[in-house]
Amino acid sequence: MSDTAAIVIENASLYGDTTADLVIVDGRIASLDRADAPAGARTLDASGLVALPGLVDIHTHLREPGREDAETIETGSRSAAQGGFVAIHAMANTTPTADTAGVVELVASRGREVGLVDVFPVGAVTVGLEGTQLSEMGAMANSRAQVRMFSDDGKCVHDPVLMRRALEYVKTFDGVIAQHAQDPRLTEGAQMHEGLVSAELGLAGWPAVAEESIIARDVLLAGHVGSRLHVCHLSTAGSVDIIRWAKAKGIDVTAEVMPHHLLLTDESVRGYDPRFKVNPPLRTQEDVDAVRAGLADGTIDVVATDHAPHPDEDKDCEWGAAAMGMIGLETALGIVQKTMVDTGALSWRDVARVMSTTPASIGRDAEHGRPLEVGEPANITLVDPAAAWTVEPSATASRSNNSPFGGIELPGRAVATFLRGRPTYLDVSFEGAFA
Ligand SMILES: [Zn+2]
Repeated sequence: MSDTAAIVIENASLYGDTTADLVIVDGRIASLDRADAPAGARTLDASGLVALPGLVDIHTHLREPGREDAETIETGSRSAAQGGFVAIHAMANTTPTADTAGVVELVASRGREVGLVDVFPVGAVTVGLEGTQLSEMGAMANSRAQVRMFSDDGKCVHDPVLMRRALEYVKTFDGVIAQHAQDPRLTEGAQMHEGLVSAELGLAGWPAVAEESIIARDVLLAGHVGSRLHVCHLSTAGSVDIIRWAKAKGIDVTAEVMPHHLLLTDESVRGYDPRFKVNPPLRTQEDVDAVRAGLADGTIDVVATDHAPHPDEDKDCEWGAAAMGMIGLETALGIVQKTMVDTGALSWRDVARVMSTTPASIGRDAEHGRPLEVGEPANITLVDPAAAWTVEPSATASRSNNSPFGGIELPGRAVATFLRGRPTYLDVSFEGAFA
């Protein structure tokens, strides 16, 4: 039977609040009642499972081209599908940099060949991420890859004149600048969050103000230019306050938080385990509480992963020499459930908003983040909220296993992912379900 045969997902809890069937025909939701299913449709029992619009990650690092030893578009796509994602935005810090139409088209077309998730390339703001000359963003926007999100992520667009020009440039094609907010001078040599723990450990600190000062500048620039700004991996209480202020002023800004900043603090660094080394760094409990509150009240718009694969040799070394970043596509949903849903801060409908609808809207992904309604594309994630599991980093579909969450228990996980009606990931518990 072909992959595109009709499928009936029976007894799913849509958004965790209404039980219905999802009848999928030709890649779309054809009905919410199994009685309408065409003869020969394959069925899957989703009793006890929550159905969400397929998850969208607007901050993923694939390492292809250039560092295929860490991740390829194929392994990253597989990891994403396994984490419940149907679309990912691939950051530009590859080798070569995704700063031309040629490179973004290559990434997009390789993503289509793999076919497990929609891979939307993010274009670099500056040539080679060097922060000196704007890239040809218009050429990337008008290419077949139709890039709408631009970022030098990994580096900050620090020059205020370049940042202003970039905001003006993307406005002409409804693009957005996603800023990695980090003042480079205030973070020279930084190894972890600057605070009590860094002082005790004697490690160079990355102060909160290095993030907050750039966000403050950028929201003012975005307001001045009348353009769209997205703030990557917001991590401090002060950053939440600045975004809240900017939104109250009517500035067109959105912000994302990472699962690790919802769960972990700088206390984790005490063991000098480089898996906890990330940029921006793990902050304090006060910051964790503030980003959770910001996500709950809508100040922070989305959860994104900052999935950052690194091979063992870049992590199995002393703290100072280790690369920054952690993988996260397969643990994101479970961490959001643990920190936000099980604590009562977010409903599953809210999770659909912060992990699908809003990220798709920021990225201008027209076919994603759509409601679970008749006629919509069948991009669907099934979550088992009772599937308590222990994270085993070596079991990941990613080519790298630099997860800081090894051994921790998460309450739930994605158990099935459908891209335009085609299953791209099915948990082993569904083996034989379609027989
Ligand atoms: Zn970044």
